[in-house]
Amino acid sequence: MPIRLLSSEVASQIAAGEVIERPASVVKELLENSLDAGARTITITIEEAGRKLIEIADDGLGIPSAELDLAISRHATSKLVRSEDLFSISTLGFRGEALASIGSVSRMTITSRVENELEGARLRVEGGKPGNITKVGTTVGTTMRVEDLFYNVPARLKFLKSDVTERRAIDSLVTRYALAYPDKRFKLSEGRNITLQTSGDGDRRAILAALYGVDVAKQMLEITAEEDLYRITGFISPTSLTRSNRREITFFLNGRWVHDGSLSTALLQAYHTFLMVGRYPLTTLFLEVHPEEVDVNVHPAKAEVRFRNQDKVFSFVQRSVRKALLAYSPVPNVAPSLWGTMRTRPSASNAVGLDWAIGHDEKFSVNSEQSPGNGDLRVETEAQSPIIDRKSEIENSSFTPVPLLRLIGQIGATYLVAEGPDGLYLVDQHAAHERVLFEKLMTQHAMKNIPSQSLLTPVAVTLPPQSTHLLITQLPALQHFGFDVEEFGPNTFQVRAMPTLFMGSDPAVSLRALVEDFEEDESPLQNEIEAKLAARVCKRMAVKAGQALSH
Ligand code: ADP
Ligand code: MG
Repeated sequence: MPIRLLSSEVASQIAAGEVIERPASVVKELLENSLDAGARTITITIEEAGRKLIEIADDGLGIPSAELDLAISRHATSKLVRSEDLFSISTLGFRGEALASIGSVSRMTITSRVENELEGARLRVEGGKPGNITKVGTTVGTTMRVEDLFYNVPARLKFLKSDVTERRAIDSLVTRYALAYPDKRFKLSEGRNITLQTSGDGDRRAILAALYGVDVAKQMLEITAEEDLYRITGFISPTSLTRSNRREITFFLNGRWVHDGSLSTALLQAYHTFLMVGRYPLTTLFLEVHPEEVDVNVHPAKAEVRFRNQDKVFSFVQRSVRKALLAYSPVPNVAPSLWGTMRTRPSASNAVGLDWAIGHDEKFSVNSEQSPGNGDLRVETEAQSPIIDRKSEIENSSFTPVPLLRLIGQIGATYLVAEGPDGLYLVDQHAAHERVLFEKLMTQHAMKNIPSQSLLTPVAVTLPPQSTHLLITQLPALQHFGFDVEEFGPNTFQVRAMPTLFMGSDPAVSLRALVEDFEEDESPLQNEIEAKLAARVCKRMAVKAGQALSH
């Protein structure tokens, strides 16, 4: 075939493909425009997870009516004049591409008014083709309406994930921007459901609660550090709070959400030796560097950046986080005078990592590979849980029945000491209890007979927006386990009954444990999902290291 120039329509769809991948990318671009326009209040409304509608209204500077048609042209921007400016960018946008891209793959309507014009103007763009500009009465600011995203690019539509996933990407994006800009008021809603609303009073921890839930937000450690050209602020999780993936590691660089491998590596190095293998911290960090120190013009969506002095930034982040972690690190809970140099095992106090493995997820640590005498105990019950489909693997590993033991007592409020036929046994009380609960629960589950008990007064639990969607998809599975949970309002659920096995423990804690760490699409097998659900609750319900037990 001869070489031909692409039609402008095809060319602009190709260009759009680099920036606009999914509904959340539209939200990101429009949000950034509103922030660049100095908006104080940003209101986002979506319908059908953003496929049908994304509307963002701001009270920023607005676009002069005479510039409306330019705003939607490619490479038209008010934020950059000379090529040198590219190396000292202080706005979020600068390429003048977003509106052109969004306009070419949707039906987009801009309504905007600037202070010194009496009326506003409106322009509609459909599949890249602009209509006429009309005058409208409106307040100062801009409202962008994006309807039927990808209606003219069916191939893109096919690549969109489930509504739950797309919605979650939007929720998590907006929540993070709200956190990065605590002085602005954000509101995100879908239908009558308000997912997020911030007050703009500058209080980051309140927004953190919207992101992670109150429990987790309370535990997050605040960090602030400054060194000649760099400044870092934000929140990091204590070493007891981890996730099985890196998804909760967030960096903002000069007010922009970036995904930078070296920043994450620096962070993980700071946590090195504090976390079990395969566990990751939760962090939201805001790094500020002089605009000349960074090149943001290296990635279509500006998600990646290049630092002028990579090593310096790396070591600044690594040192600052490490320092904060050490400053906050908890006092060992074993009195040194009593026990000499004995230290508690880090994993024994780790409340989130699974101390024994189920299924075949390599992200979980498999204790059966460790040598015995590491302080972990293998507990065998008569009924092997049929749901564990790697049963043979487990049997082939070093599981041996535990003989009858005589309990001597507890040491360090962490290990049970017992005498057995072949010597002394140290039992990690948390790991053992967790396993016992799990076996009991799964046995009852296999027999389809999980005794459940109604709570005297149902307990209402509010979850962060992302967890809400996940929990809804898990409600039927929960029912199988004897939890009676129902939706009770926006992001709020009511626990009405719990498995008898867990009676006496806090229903709110167990509900949170259920959604925590849950990865969407983590396994297509209902069996495995249920086994993991069970593992998560048992982990939370089990006695912890540091808990004194009665004989
Ligand atoms: P960029 O942000 O890279 O400049 P965009 O295509 O996102 O490019 O926007 C083009 C121009 O339209 C911006 O430079 C800005 O002047 C104007 N604009 C877009 N959105 C807004 C808004 N919400 N408020 C005011 N001006 C806006
Ligand atoms: Mg922009």
